Amino acid sequence: MPVPPETPRTMRQAQPALAPGALWPAILERARHALSIGALQPIHTRQEALDDAGVRFGVRCVSSLAHKPPAGAAGNPFAPYEPELFVADISPTHVALLNKFPVIEHHLLIVTRRFEPQDSALAVGDFAALAACMAELNGLGFYNAGTSAGASQRHKHLQIVPLPLGPGEVEVPIEALLEDAPADAQPDRAPGLPFEHSFVRLNPALFGDPDNAGELLAEHYAALLRTASVALIMSDRGPMATQAYNLLVTRRWMLCVPRTQECFDSIRVNALGFAGSLLVKDEERLERVRRHGPLAVLRGVARARR
Ligand code: AMP
Repeated sequence: MPVPPETPRTMRQAQPALAPGALWPAILERARHALSIGALQPIHTRQEALDDAGVRFGVRCVSSLAHKPPAGAAGNPFAPYEPELFVADISPTHVALLNKFPVIEHHLLIVTRRFEPQDSALAVGDFAALAACMAELNGLGFYNAGTSAGASQRHKHLQIVPLPLGPGEVEVPIEALLEDAPADAQPDRAPGLPFEHSFVRLNPALFGDPDNAGELLAEHYAALLRTASVALIMSDRGPMATQAYNLLVTRRWMLCVPRTQECFDSIRVNALGFAGSLLVKDEERLERVRRHGPLAVLRGVARARR
């Protein structure tokens, strides 16, 4: 149930869990309203399909940058958040907001109510909130853990974009390279991916059991980090990753990609890039992606495969 508008936005009380069937109508209604009053400022792009090693990548080139503030602009947009962008109370610890500057329609942010740093490790509560949303919405969940992984905000936020994502036949373009991955319950590597990573298949039925989904996903996540050699250290804010990485979650699999840098040839890459969807801010960069090939861009921001 949405919190009434008069509730102070930083001091909302914990709300009951998301009501079944409520998320998608809430996203549609909030997006319509937020757009009508200018709170939602979509970034318009032109998408080009680029084929590379059997993957039909979508490369979006920005045609209008709306009024998006520069990355890292002063202030925290999630505490307090803009009430017009509020979608739903997901759990006692998380709320869902609309991305103010969406490239992909109905792009959802799952934000912690209290500040936590974006490079802190994901916990059961984060995965429980993600799973509650993904049970309602067939989407790609993702996490850009750190600025070198493409995060522009320091306040912890997972994200979901609805599927299908790319211009091709498959729901997530990179899935063309995941077909040969083992069907084990333990993380492994997908033979087709040409950069260091860890991958595990999921049983979609997991999302039908929200009480347990958070814990199960958190266990898979811990195993993925170990397999990809992303170490956690204890800090005064809890466990933190020692390096940046991207995490991608669908109802069918999870993928973790440790990152070495944010950009390759001035092309910024975040988790969506590893799903097969790149965003460039001008034609010059689009031409660079064409020249290098999208997979070379991804290899350029990830560790070499062992
Ligand atoms: P990331 O760049 O991966 O850290 O994701 C953060 C997202 O927050 C970006 O995609 C921004 O478009 C979005 N964003 C920036 N400011 C706001 C805001 N005031 N409210 C909601 N979303 C925002």
